[in-house]
Amino acid sequence: MSLKNKTKEIKAFLKNDNILTEKEECYCYAQDASNIIVPREIPDAVVFAETIEDVKKIMKYAYENEIPVISRGAGTNMVGSCSCNREGIILNFSRMNKIIEIDSVNMIARVQPGVVLGELKKAAEKVGLFFPPDPSNYTVSTIGGAISQSSGGALGFKYGTTKDYVLSMKVVTADGRLMTLGADTSKDSAGYHLAQLMVGSEGTLAVIVEATVKLIPKPQSIKAVSAYFDGVEEAMNAVNATISSSIYPAAVDFMDTNAINSVENYTNCNLNTNKACLLLITLDGFESSMELRTDMLCNILRISGATEIKISQSEDEYNSIWNARRSSFAAAARLAPDVVTDDIIVPRKNLAKMANICQNIAAKYGLTMCLIGHAGDGNLHPQIALNLDNDIEFKNCIDARSEMYTEAIKLGGTISAEHGIGLEKKSYLRSVVDDNAIEYMKMIKKVFDPKNILNPGKIF
Ligand SMILES: Cc1cc2nc3c(=O)[nH]c(=O)nc-3n(C[C@H](O)[C@H](O)[C@H](O)COP(=O)(O)OP(=O)(O)OC[C@H]3O[C@@H](n4cnc5c(N)ncnc54)[C@H](O)[C@@H]3O)c2cc1C
Repeated sequence: MSLKNKTKEIKAFLKNDNILTEKEECYCYAQDASNIIVPREIPDAVVFAETIEDVKKIMKYAYENEIPVISRGAGTNMVGSCSCNREGIILNFSRMNKIIEIDSVNMIARVQPGVVLGELKKAAEKVGLFFPPDPSNYTVSTIGGAISQSSGGALGFKYGTTKDYVLSMKVVTADGRLMTLGADTSKDSAGYHLAQLMVGSEGTLAVIVEATVKLIPKPQSIKAVSAYFDGVEEAMNAVNATISSSIYPAAVDFMDTNAINSVENYTNCNLNTNKACLLLITLDGFESSMELRTDMLCNILRISGATEIKISQSEDEYNSIWNARRSSFAAAARLAPDVVTDDIIVPRKNLAKMANICQNIAAKYGLTMCLIGHAGDGNLHPQIALNLDNDIEFKNCIDARSEMYTEAIKLGGTISAEHGIGLEKKSYLRSVVDDNAIEYMKMIKKVFDPKNILNPGKIF
């Protein structure tokens, strides 16, 4: 029986409007927010799960019929991690989007996988708590996606990434069984931590149908300090000096002059477009400590060569500058028909070198690049604006990307800090992961997914 006919059988055990099968309807689910370097296929069906029972039924049927299943949150990953590269169905979680419980005493939240991170943040804040993971698009991306990509963001510098907040989860296995992993306690040392194994596994091991995450107290006060520099080296020295002081910033982000200019053109938020780079630093904590720490920070920034410093005076000003920074992808997308956003990380002491290398590589290949990144983590996101239909630009982009990876690895870094591997980076996996480790990863994949139906072709 063809896969098209099998999707009719799936339709039979779901509510009618819970499945799309027309080519036109399924078309946009072939893509995610990645750059379409690897060709995509239109999925045979898009199924909207509403309950754990739905997911169990779908997986049992998919297992028996060997149908590939690709779990999908908001589809915003940048590596082709939930796009379709062969026949199969998309399992869409946008209708499993309930915050089941916020337990403010134990400081945990129990959520369905399609809950948008921004909604979880808002719900936590209502009871004075905080869920820190903040990928720049947290207003749309989901907890299922964030767990599966181990997503981070600017606040990762102080607060870590999604992996640091996962306590337990319910998953449906490849053959349709429900399994609980981890525990909702602050410590758990009972056997292998399979919940953590799911983190970053890109939907290749099981389907997450519920997660319990840790919350922390919301910081009392928050400020953004913007500091402009005439050179990348001075800015990176300022990053190191700031981090080794006792100020303990929450985020230390970086934008080069191209990024400053494209963001300013997009947002009109009064960035100084004549500067080589901008550091955007967040301080948070007790109100009473803020003035002292802000003064200390400004002092360090000035000594390191900052030529202009601005301090946010209200929460609105804080949000305005950070919203501008978070819009850098949209801003770069206005420079050309396509944007290829990358994600490399090096030990922080090599960040200035790596930033210069990225800029030189872009210049060598004649590519327009905006360079942003979470400088405190040594994590850079080169954003190359180009026309992917232009064969020369396409080839130059691929070559530039490979060179950036090679240089990052030489500097002790790696090719993915927070975006994952998906389809786009799998050919580079062996350059950063030991061959034996890859064999073990494949064995783990086989244990969880013996018929290779869970997001096949991703990572390996
Ligand atoms: C403008 C923009 C800015 C971004 N900024 C950042 C950033 O600052 N930091 C960062 O880390 N990332 C960033 N990203 C990347 C992306 O947003 C994150 O990786 C995000 O967390 C993905 O969430 P999603 O809901 O869109 O997941 P999707 O893209 O839908 O899926 C991602 C992966 O998770 C799997 N998956 C989804 N749901 C489930 C489930 N229930 N069970 C099993 N597997 C599942 C999918 O199969 C896929 O492998 C950005 C993306 C964009 C477009």
